[in-house]
Amino acid sequence: MLIVKKFGGSSVADKERIMNVARRCIEDYNKGHDVVVVLSAMGKTTDRLLEMAADINPDAKKREIDMLLATGEQTSVALMAMAMGSMGVSAISLNAFQVVMHTTSEYSNAKFKRIDTERIRHELDSRKIVIVTGFQGINKYDDLTTLGRGGSDTTAVALAAALHADACEIYTDVEGVYTADPRVVPNAKKMKEITYDEMLELATLGAKVLHNRSVEMAKKYGVQLVVRSSLTEAEGTVVKEVVKMEQMLISGVAADRNTARIAVIGLKDEPGIAFKVFNLMAAHKISVDVILQSIGRDGTKDISFTVAKTDMKDALAVLEENKDRITAQRIESDDKVAKVSVVGAGMQTNTGVASGMFEALYNVGVNIRMISTSDIRITVLIDEEDVDKATRAVHDKFIPD
Ligand code: ADP
Ligand code: ASP
Ligand code: MG
Repeated sequence: MLIVKKFGGSSVADKERIMNVARRCIEDYNKGHDVVVVLSAMGKTTDRLLEMAADINPDAKKREIDMLLATGEQTSVALMAMAMGSMGVSAISLNAFQVVMHTTSEYSNAKFKRIDTERIRHELDSRKIVIVTGFQGINKYDDLTTLGRGGSDTTAVALAAALHADACEIYTDVEGVYTADPRVVPNAKKMKEITYDEMLELATLGAKVLHNRSVEMAKKYGVQLVVRSSLTEAEGTVVKEVVKMEQMLISGVAADRNTARIAVIGLKDEPGIAFKVFNLMAAHKISVDVILQSIGRDGTKDISFTVAKTDMKDALAVLEENKDRITAQRIESDDKVAKVSVVGAGMQTNTGVASGMFEALYNVGVNIRMISTSDIRITVLIDEEDVDKATRAVHDKFIPD
């Protein structure tokens, strides 16, 4: 069997944890399996590196940021190979250049294009455990790129797909995928199984237990995932196409603090204005999420929308620059907001979910600023300070104790 095992930052945060991971991987190796290990940077290394960068130059080029961030993963893979070596097992660490993991050229948000497998296969054939840097790739300029925060999960799935692995295991600091972040909602329940589609919604809406692109890729290539703890032997959650369990109305609640609201005020109420606003965002690769347009009054209208907090500065700069062209009188922004979403395939056939969610928020005095829905989710934008309270209230409304 070929097994891809991915360990997140907290699972390799210090010497003891690194030794623990090494032992778990060696167990599989000793059963005769081929083992490929994908690692994140140790503990909060990536955050620390980003702080260092911001301190030196808040407007640093993304190319240089990626060059810097990629060092985090390189540290963990080298230490892991040494740890396994100290246990008498032959292991080799490889970075994105050595594997070669080709990505698009977009720094800080690159996507995999192709992964060469010869080097990994060669090392596996000589009975080595192969330890690969997560989160990084190489673009057509031979520069290091990174895949976006949390991207090591995507490296693991991409490798599992490229190598036709028999299993892809994502080890983290909780025992699986829960009905909400177990750190915020103590009575959240671990799911035995979840579908790709529901997991993709949860991940996209802020449940950072899996990088959303890893789920997208797992669905596309049919890679079955298991999410489980690196510290306990508990069973974990399987992410796959169809689940056997009776479909619950709601599969989970997710919260996302990485969001900001922008309001473009006093636009001319005529055809083509929304197109101009969102075309500007698209041209600058800024993803827009929840959108709200007011009813026109006195020939003008307002358009509000959300972007990632990290994109707010760029979005505001572009809008200000083009204020006349889009006919805006004023542009406002607020980054003290957050999104809370309920997700569940069951809501397609049940009409009570929206009102239940709004009632739960009303009961705890949380004001809703924007609402958006799809057939399997409802998202509300609220004040950031209310996010934990809102998550718990909505969770308790739908998930029985
Ligand atoms: P890693 O470093 O292992 O990649 P992450 O911090 O990226 O770990 O993701 C794991 C964290 O995701 C958990 O510690 C938990 O707080 C958070 N989380 C958010 N939503 C969920 C959820 N629905 N189920 C499980 N964990 C969740
Ligand atoms: N180290 C990277 C991050 O902190 C990638 C990852 O953890 O998956 O975002
Ligand atoms: Mg992660």
